[in-house]
Amino acid sequence: MRYQSTRGGASVTLDEALRQGIAADGGLYLPESLPELTLSSGADSADIKVTAGTFLAPFFAGSDLEDSLDEIIAETFSFPLPVSALEVAAGRCDVLELYHGPTAAFKDIGAGFLAACLSRLEGDAEKPLTILVATSGDTGGAVAAAFDGRPGMRVVVLYPDGMVSARQAHQLTCWGDNVLSLAVDGTFDDCQAIVKSAMADRQLNDKHRFSSANSINIGRLLPQAIYYAHASVLHKMRTGTAPGFIIPTGNLGNAFACFLARETGMPIGKIILATNANRLIVDYLAGSAWEPRASIQTLASAMDVGNPSNMERLRHVGGDAEDLVGRIRAQSVTDAQIKSQIRRDYEELNLISCPHTATATYVWQHLDEEERLSHDWIVVATAHAAKFEQIVEPIIGERIALPSVLAAILKKPSHFVPIEASMAAFEAALEKQFD
Ligand SMILES: *Cc1c(COP(=O)(O)O)cnc(C)c1O
Repeated sequence: MRYQSTRGGASVTLDEALRQGIAADGGLYLPESLPELTLSSGADSADIKVTAGTFLAPFFAGSDLEDSLDEIIAETFSFPLPVSALEVAAGRCDVLELYHGPTAAFKDIGAGFLAACLSRLEGDAEKPLTILVATSGDTGGAVAAAFDGRPGMRVVVLYPDGMVSARQAHQLTCWGDNVLSLAVDGTFDDCQAIVKSAMADRQLNDKHRFSSANSINIGRLLPQAIYYAHASVLHKMRTGTAPGFIIPTGNLGNAFACFLARETGMPIGKIILATNANRLIVDYLAGSAWEPRASIQTLASAMDVGNPSNMERLRHVGGDAEDLVGRIRAQSVTDAQIKSQIRRDYEELNLISCPHTATATYVWQHLDEEERLSHDWIVVATAHAAKFEQIVEPIIGERIALPSVLAAILKKPSHFVPIEASMAAFEAALEKQFD
């Protein structure tokens, strides 16, 4: 299998696409052709690792990693991804729980898989590879956890000092010697600007071998398709119907993976994206032009994306708005609606939702009744509510029990280097830690 940029050009191997992250022309990598997968090819096992092996085999054909695929899968899917039934009065709605990984959010799956791949491709190289990640919360923790302690790999996490929650800050700063956490005196945009300048700096790049692990890397996308494949196939086997998915959406990585899984033939019904007040996708599907916007801060902060980069992939595979309408839908949920839905989930469904997950339960609850009752639905829970306890606890009036993964993280000592928002300060911190 070869991979091509959404903007055309020559194709590359999977290994090249994994190393590069973004294509040289600024486009995003996609497989040149999509395999057609069928239930009988083994994707009907109760073990998600078996589904993953079947699903990923064609995508890894010809890769240096082909022989390690089973190991990579075992490392990535080392925690459960259960589907639980909601206590609904009528109809059927399940929750796909993607928050049982090391940092209690779905990004653990993509980050873990990418780390498992890159450490095998690059672990023996003479100079370590240095992953740079600017983060406003979830991504940095998942990437740091995934690369923590891996030989031949380093991570530098940059986050805006004082602008992430205490628990989030701890997740960014509690890792081993190969992870450098920089508390930047500035905004998320300042952090991102440093990463961009560093990547573009030839000399610095030669020295540290920078790479990125952001959500446009194909290595984060492919493993996300697997839980949709697995959940939908098992649902189809049990009930005879293809479930619809409602997915909290920001940069469109998670939801695009669902679309991809359906394109390969997985029994997935409707796909509905739930966004927060950042509603570019919703407006685009309703006929507006695709024009990047400044992001708006919301309670579902990991979805505060004004210019969702994976739309480029979705349009490449699914066509422009006229073609996409009917294949995918989207609805925007305001902060007030998120708050009231968190309460309603708790009171009516016995579910403690994080603010991101609440956008999806809101959309499900407000479907047209006929549509809600005549289809089986699976809402996607993207993070554990305990990560956002400052928002959720006052609404439900109850302390949220800390899942063991988060409790373990919070017990680790935290260490970080405060820097001013400049390249000079960034370079100095790198020298000090890694020389
Ligand atoms: C990143 C994130 C999202 C959004 O996922 P995308 O792939 O960017 O659409 C939703 N919920 C949580 C908790 C996240 O961390």
